[in-house]
Amino acid sequence: MFAQFKTLPQLFDFFKDEPTCIAYWEQVRWNGVPTCPHCEAINPYKTNRGYKCRNIECQKKFTSLVGTIFENTKMPLRTWFAAIYLCANHKKGISSLQLGRDLGIHQKSAWFLLHRLRETMKEISTLPLGGEGVIVEVDNTIVGGKAKNMSNKKRAAMKGNRDAAMANKATVTAYVERGGVIRFDVKDTNESEPDLLRKHVDTDSILMTDTANVYNKVGMEYAHHETVDHGNSEYVRERVWHTNTIEGAFSHFDRMVIGVYHNISRKHMQAYCNESAYRYNTRKMQQTPRFEDTVLKCSGVRLKYATLTQE
Ligand SMILES: [Zn+2]
Repeated sequence: MFAQFKTLPQLFDFFKDEPTCIAYWEQVRWNGVPTCPHCEAINPYKTNRGYKCRNIECQKKFTSLVGTIFENTKMPLRTWFAAIYLCANHKKGISSLQLGRDLGIHQKSAWFLLHRLRETMKEISTLPLGGEGVIVEVDNTIVGGKAKNMSNKKRAAMKGNRDAAMANKATVTAYVERGGVIRFDVKDTNESEPDLLRKHVDTDSILMTDTANVYNKVGMEYAHHETVDHGNSEYVRERVWHTNTIEGAFSHFDRMVIGVYHNISRKHMQAYCNESAYRYNTRKMQQTPRFEDTVLKCSGVRLKYATLTQE
């Protein structure tokens, strides 16, 4: 598209006022052809505050924010764009506390904004990764639920209750194509690692895991299954057989979880995983293209506050 800035001050110069932001957004969303979000009719009448549909059976009024994550927002698009820029370009993510301070908005607003952004970062394709001749590394880790990070009340409630403590922990499995994209899945209690593997990785792929025997049986269904024995300090064998790609992705994920977000509840874990995966998958993009990619993703999804906060 046509955004041109390399720093935050340049971004504010580029998006100098709200009409500029709206014009940019309409270009991104509609490619210059305003379209009714209710009936898809084009060429609506321009009104003071937006548009009115020309279709005689619709005639609804709308703005370009309707049906997107910006719908009903009280924040200017200029603030949103700055937030998107900061969120997309901080390697380890940004906390709602920090973002609130940086942009002069309430922490709760920043928290909600970031969750809406994470929703847009969700990978849309659910097709299996890999394929013939592609090496896919798979590994998992347990995240969260550390007692020292909990409130006293919560800790007291969990004392002696191992199930409750485990309920706040999550098993996160990562699937990464060598030289390609990553996907994280937070395991539900009724899911098994082999089932998840079949769902996320094409059986024509070459599977690469450590010796965790959870993959031994299902591994036979794959074109090839190689393992690295970390317990025996075996990290790289014959140069090809390693899980360094996934180790790198996980260490990145850990730095985000530990360094920035501290304690993530089970409920929101998948959202943070999506954020981490998005950052990994766009790692080769420059700042501005990544900003535009995120803005483009904002055109489809809208997450309601109630969905986020309900237990
Ligand atoms: Zn319409």
